[in-house]
Amino acid sequence: MLQPDEEDIAILENVTYETLRKGCKECGFRHVVFQTCISVEKDVKVFFMNIECPKCKEDYTEIMHMKEIE
Ligand SMILES: [Zn+2]
Repeated sequence: MLQPDEEDIAILENVTYETLRKGCKECGFRHVVFQTCISVEKDVKVFFMNIECPKCKEDYTEIMHMKEIE
């Protein structure tokens, strides 16, 4: 299991902030429930979030960022 490096953590903080600022993509509700994940592919890390809106019950996955692995 690859540990996130400092840059990854900075990206995670950033995407978390973005998500909280934007809220639910359907209704804009701010207090969404979310989980941040990093998927490590062959030569790229994909940062994505599972977002669940308690208001409109929307449940979706959003790719927030992709980073090439050097
Ligand atoms: Zn919603």
